[in-house]
Amino acid sequence: ARKYVFRKQFDGFPKESDLELVEEELPPVKDGEFLAEAIYLSVDPYMRAYAPRLSLGTTFIGSQVAKVVESKNPKYPVGKHVVGEFGWRTHTISDGKDGIFPVLNPEGLPLSLSLGVLGMPGNTAYFGLLEICQPKAGETVVVSGAAGAVGSIVGQIAKIKGCTVIGIAGTDEKGKWLVEELQFDRFINYKDKDFEKELKEATPKGVDCYFDNVGGEISNAVMERMNQYGRISVCGAISGYNSGGDVKVGMVQLFVVSKQLKMEGFVVRRWTDRWFEGIEQNKKWIKEGKMRYRETMTEGFDNMFKAFVDMLKGGNVGKAVVKA
Ligand code: NDP
Repeated sequence: ARKYVFRKQFDGFPKESDLELVEEELPPVKDGEFLAEAIYLSVDPYMRAYAPRLSLGTTFIGSQVAKVVESKNPKYPVGKHVVGEFGWRTHTISDGKDGIFPVLNPEGLPLSLSLGVLGMPGNTAYFGLLEICQPKAGETVVVSGAAGAVGSIVGQIAKIKGCTVIGIAGTDEKGKWLVEELQFDRFINYKDKDFEKELKEATPKGVDCYFDNVGGEISNAVMERMNQYGRISVCGAISGYNSGGDVKVGMVQLFVVSKQLKMEGFVVRRWTDRWFEGIEQNKKWIKEGKMRYRETMTEGFDNMFKAFVDMLKGGNVGKAVVKA
């Protein structure tokens, strides 16, 4: 068995030497336990955001789709697939109690989707948009981080709800996918020097709902375009995760007051008791051809770190996943 141990607190972008890939010998499986082998592992922005709260010397955090390969727990027979918060490790002994979800029968869809559209990121999009923004048909919805795991689903749900959708992301290739395949109405590249002008042109009726994955200057620009009584779902702030606390102060509060906005942050675990509602609905939309997904798959457990940093730098389209 192998695992990545958190050795050094990240300073700016994570460095490979901050984690150590080690071999470990696992003890025998005891009564009530099972041994699971990783098939797909997730790399997510929250790993960077939560790192300051992790203890050095522990296994680095993360979810994986794993297969039970040995079992002394009748609830988890050999061959069963689970989504577990086991961290960056190839093999895990678990008692099945904490942080484990069954993999919903994917019905011909890839198992890895349990880490993306049919898992935590899909639910983040589903609940974070519908519960917090409550978009109505005809409204204008802007989503930042639009070509990522969460953002690409947010925009498609907003389209299903009859909204005009504008996606913001960092490469034109991502934009082409959003507009041509996912039916977003418009794409804006935040790296363009005329970003703010383009945003203004793209939102002639202002913005009613903003799903914010990035924070920082991109969000300041969107806030300025908000309509009265607009709603903002604050999902993440990846623009600041690698900046070592050097976050630029924006004019957000000014707009929240003058436009009487409703701005609410959330953690997707809030909807744990409705977890399968989100997954089932996203699956239904996929089956009906109303929702598409992409994955950026990296081969090999040895490449976990590379996949993680590539994702933080925007190398992924859709969900970033590692195949063990
Ligand atoms: P993504 O698949 O969107 O991957 C991260 C993306 O962030 C990159 O592809 C990159 O795309 C973009 N990015 C990187 N740096 C910057 C920057 N400086 N400014 C703008 N964009 C940047 O990740 P997820 O979909 O998994 O997560 C998206 C957000 O949602 C994150 O902020 C995450 O923390 C948050 N989240 C929150 C949850 C919650 O419960 N509140 C749950 C899950 C996720 P690009 O090419 O566009 O730059």
